[in-house]
Amino acid sequence: MNVELSRRGFLKAAGVGVAGTTIGAFGFAELEAAHAAAIRPFKLANTMETRNTCPYCSVACGIIMYSKGDLRKGETAEILHIEGDADHPTNRGTLCPKGAALKDFVKAETRLKYPMIRKPGSDKFERVSWDQALDRIARLMKDDRDANFIAANAAGVPVNRWTTVGFLAASATTNETAYLTYKVVRSTGIVAFDNQARV
Ligand code: SF4
Repeated sequence: MNVELSRRGFLKAAGVGVAGTTIGAFGFAELEAAHAAAIRPFKLANTMETRNTCPYCSVACGIIMYSKGDLRKGETAEILHIEGDADHPTNRGTLCPKGAALKDFVKAETRLKYPMIRKPGSDKFERVSWDQALDRIARLMKDDRDANFIAANAAGVPVNRWTTVGFLAASATTNETAYLTYKVVRSTGIVAFDNQARV
């Protein structure tokens, strides 16, 4: 949804902006706040709103990401602002400091955006496709499970444990996804498993 400004709203905001810039320099805090509030609609004008979930912890707060650039027209979308979703039942628009800094997380130069591998003996990571990464992970997991799976304990009681691999999943999922993740991981016999939501 695009944020629209009426002509009246534009004039009002512009007036407050000029006054705030001038008088705010003398330390008038309320005017500074009004100034900031007046500028905000301009910042978000003509942006696209996309709802999402904060990826950091199992609270799973709702967020709205504001971006410019229409993907449906083949344009590149860039996120300009992220804030709490006031309609979300979990957080009602609030975010903790980590969630409030999400834009820095998205734009971080060190952010990992695709799978990478460091080959044996190499001193650097190289980008690989998702197919390559998933095939390699599946191969290594299968080999490890075949070598280390414990079907029964010393007394002959079936235990079906796979204790040489751990699995860490994410929190930014729906309950249904978390439930399925749990079922798939546990069905392999993996004991060391955490997906934050801890279902
Ligand atoms: S905003 Fe904070 S509390 Fe909410 S999901 Fe993100 S990290 Fe967790």
